[in-house]
Amino acid sequence: MKSDKSFVMTVAYIMPLLTLACAAGIFFSAKYHKQFTDLEVLPILFFMLSCMSCLIALVAVALYDNADKKHEAISKDFEQLKFKESVMSAKSKDDEFMKESLSAIREIANKINNDIDMDSINSEVLKQLAGLLGSKDEQEITMYLLDELNGELQPKAHLIGNTVYLGEALRKTSIDRTGVAEAFESCKTTFAARGKDEVVIIFPLSVAGRIAGVLRIKTYHDGTSSEKEDWLKLIETHLRSFTSVFSLAIRTPDFYIKAVIDALTGLYTKRHFYNQLSYWVSAAKRNQEPFCLIMLDIDHFKKINDTYGHLTGDIVLKGVGDIVLKSLRSTSQAFRYGGEEIAIILPSTTAAEAEVAAERLRKKMEKTSFESESGKALKITISLGLAEWSESMADEKALVASADKALYKAKETGRNKYCISN
Ligand code: GH3
Ligand code: MG
Ligand code: MG
Repeated sequence: MKSDKSFVMTVAYIMPLLTLACAAGIFFSAKYHKQFTDLEVLPILFFMLSCMSCLIALVAVALYDNADKKHEAISKDFEQLKFKESVMSAKSKDDEFMKESLSAIREIANKINNDIDMDSINSEVLKQLAGLLGSKDEQEITMYLLDELNGELQPKAHLIGNTVYLGEALRKTSIDRTGVAEAFESCKTTFAARGKDEVVIIFPLSVAGRIAGVLRIKTYHDGTSSEKEDWLKLIETHLRSFTSVFSLAIRTPDFYIKAVIDALTGLYTKRHFYNQLSYWVSAAKRNQEPFCLIMLDIDHFKKINDTYGHLTGDIVLKGVGDIVLKSLRSTSQAFRYGGEEIAIILPSTTAAEAEVAAERLRKKMEKTSFESESGKALKITISLGLAEWSESMADEKALVASADKALYKAKETGRNKYCISN
């Protein structure tokens, strides 16, 4: 377009000159050959011709100029549209990734709520992460956690493709630790592009400003280097929100266990009880499966404290917790609900089966001889209240109230027995 314009400009300047030259040529040749009779008209004619040619040239230049400006405006608009399109496509990619990231976060939160085993939580975390990055056969993700005792980073779980290696299998697997210590010390995310499409991301896991571990991700992403950069930025943002959910649980297993396991009895905490109960209530609603709740309370426990002291009271409480844990089926869960009150969730259990379990527990407690701090043998009894989940109950609180009522009845009607809610 620019060269066209300068061509027209040149024509615009040359045309009047050429016209004048032609006019002068014709004038002199006519005068010399005497071909024209009225030579006075010629200069006016030539002058007019020259003006016309100037005018034509100028109009042409103006038209070209206008077209040029229009073209510039259009290409500017086009560039803007292209930019908007790239922003929109990045946004839709971001939205898509955000959706996947949120669903992965939900899965992890679910796992943390319903599972206490760190290996299985770590395994789920790596699987969700692999899915988020687009599972690839050669993809590798290693989770390192800080060992609080020796201050060293230890690999806790390693994923290759879709397989997670834990424990003994993990020890036998060769793991690339390149860059891990550096990322841990600097507490910064590092990216390294290796080979054609290989990308290594090392992401520190921190909770409340304290670094607790590192995730090393070896994955693959094709595209130009600027596309790779955009992708890595996206990954980092989502990794941050994704890891913040589970880093609380993995900061140290001890930290997590403290929140879920009661230190004295080894039973789950009351906080965990309500999480679990609402989970089982939803599951029962969904699967139409029966499940029961037992509330257990030690009879006249105050007397134990008063007679033998609180230390002995604690020993007895721990002993009761041990018996409950040993007596339950693996699917059942026991929680320290209050001071010396224990709640037991029995999934897939009918009221009749729960009655058998309650009576078995009552007998075991009655038979067991506990030992006071000073070595004296002492006996205790327990009372139990039992309730089965029913569709007519509004929520989990109604189930707890029902089991509590049955426990109260057992206490009122003589203790050392179980009662079932009606
Ligand atoms: P009841 O048969 O009616 O249940 O009589 P109780 O004496 O057991 O009465 P209650 O359940 O009201 O009393 C519970 C007592 O348990 C009160 C408290 O001193 C004691 N207790 C609660 N938590 C602990 C604990 O962690 N250690 C010890 N040693 N005692 C505790
Ligand atoms: Mg009691
Ligand atoms: Mg009590």
